[in-house]
Amino acid sequence: MTETHQHWTWIGMDPNTSDDEWRRLLARLRQSGIQAILPEVVTNSAAAYASEHLPVRGPWLEQLLPLAAAAGLEVHAWMHAMPCNIPAVYQHHPDWYAVNGCGESTADKPPYVSYYRFLCPSRPEVQEFVGRRVRELAAYSELTGIHLDYIRFPDVILASALQPRYGLVQDREYPQFDYCYCEVCRRMFRDQTGVDPVALEDPAQDASWRQFRCDRISHMVREVLAPVARQAGKRVTAAVFPNWWHVRQEWHTWDLDGVMPMLYHSFYNEDLDWIGSRCREGVERLPAAVPLYSGLFVPALQPDQLAPAVRASMAGGARGVSLFASGSMSDAHWDAFASVNQKLTGNR
Ligand SMILES: [Zn+2]
Repeated sequence: MTETHQHWTWIGMDPNTSDDEWRRLLARLRQSGIQAILPEVVTNSAAAYASEHLPVRGPWLEQLLPLAAAAGLEVHAWMHAMPCNIPAVYQHHPDWYAVNGCGESTADKPPYVSYYRFLCPSRPEVQEFVGRRVRELAAYSELTGIHLDYIRFPDVILASALQPRYGLVQDREYPQFDYCYCEVCRRMFRDQTGVDPVALEDPAQDASWRQFRCDRISHMVREVLAPVARQAGKRVTAAVFPNWWHVRQEWHTWDLDGVMPMLYHSFYNEDLDWIGSRCREGVERLPAAVPLYSGLFVPALQPDQLAPAVRASMAGGARGVSLFASGSMSDAHWDAFASVNQKLTGNR
């Protein structure tokens, strides 16, 4: 039977598992209805393939590619894009890092958590640095696609359920979480509009300044990263936010081969219906040719909630789901997933 939908799973970086264990896991994924895997081959601090410019944790991508092919699974390389916690980079190139509305750099004062060291997308050196990993990954002929994650600015407003964790009440956009006010971004915006963003009375209310930041991330995707991948015949997808304006992520304009909004309902104090509504909203914003896959947060889903979450997503127009992440899927989760997927396939 032809599968008109496609399901995915993210797989956290794990270069230390044996071939036999991967064979078993990958077979289970395929039998349960997963068609594509997203192994995390670049984090904010290391690579799990033979990179020539990032610290390497091991040849994991090289291990997975033939095993996934044998299991009948597509491989899309999951890479973090904008945060970089490699000491040699933030120590030697602090100027590459994004600066907030208080003038503080993520290089030495990252917001929220110590690893939130985001680079500035306006810097040519940053475009070259992040583009290089795409070039390296795209050279793997067995790879189907490149999956962009953290392709955004830091959250100017965190998801509502996360704010209490940091003791924050973000009832508006505050300058210490608002990026990027580096010299390059300020100059570019001034050249476009005649206004220095630091002179804006209330930057949060300025539509052109917000648009400028969205455009910097969109430029990174459309002009820098996607062309490199596509030139090598790779598909390009991205993990994106439902509250895209809080991370300056205008993903509906990116012309990708698929988007995975992270519909992590528990982060927003929401229920499973919310997942379906966010899918519908996303599908309506996207061009018809761009499929949306609903990103499900498995740690907040009991096995018996998986089927309703998948059904809500499909009813909202999603072409499939992407599970975050395989490591959180118990046997009972896989059984439930296989069963809902059988019904989906049977209904089509
Ligand atoms: Zn900047």
